[in-house]
Amino acid sequence: MTENNLGSPRIIVLSGPSGSGKSTIVNRLVEESPVPLLKVISATTRSPRPAELDGVDYYFLTGEEFDRRRDNNELLECAEVFGAGYWYGTLLSELKRANDSEKWALLEIDVEGAMQVVKKFPEAVTFFLKTPSEEEYENRLRLRGTEDEDKIKKRLSTARKELELSGHYENVIINEDLDRAVKEISEILINREAEFNARRI
Ligand code: ADP
Ligand code: 5GP
Repeated sequence: MTENNLGSPRIIVLSGPSGSGKSTIVNRLVEESPVPLLKVISATTRSPRPAELDGVDYYFLTGEEFDRRRDNNELLECAEVFGAGYWYGTLLSELKRANDSEKWALLEIDVEGAMQVVKKFPEAVTFFLKTPSEEEYENRLRLRGTEDEDKIKKRLSTARKELELSGHYENVIINEDLDRAVKEISEILINREAEFNARRI
């Protein structure tokens, strides 16, 4: 499978620094999206966290398997996120899964991967999530309590670089009030779905 035989897939890209609320918003969209939507399961070479399941949270691959799939052109995009040596990528088969069920493919991916997607599919709807202030990423990360100090530092340093690229996104959403942010995203998706349907007629 290549990008070319997927036609015009409907793609939503959601990025933002660690702690900006991506997972929270993805969960809300999966439950209450106003448009048909499928959360894409990414491939990664990092190990599963205690509650994570293969094929549910990620496809957990060895480094060799990930390289093999990339060399075989099975990935839409990929990046080594947080400079920690672990790779993450979107499998083209996931786009096909969304396309076959006539749903938008929701990709929660980093900025480097997002730029690769937009290059291939310029009509992808892109969202960059921000918190109301820079300190708030750190507050939320610490409150979440899933990373040790070293990982928090790496994520905050990545956040600064990511924020510099937010201008490349079509929509920048400030996740101050969660309901408000979900509503803003939903309204944009409703409009894009209407445009998509109008083109099909
Ligand atoms: P990310 O996936 O971007 O790293 P999360 O979705 O895990 O971020 O959110 C980081 C933390 O911030 C979580 O504990 C989450 O419950 C909290 N959070 C998300 N959105 C908001 C919000 N609007 N206001 C306050 N806390 C939030
Ligand atoms: P985690 O906390 O799950 O280890 O890492 C999440 C980070 O990896 C997030 O910043 C997320 O956006 C990014 N990520 C997850 N899946 C993909 C993917 O398929 N491609 C890219 N480029 N980044 C991903």
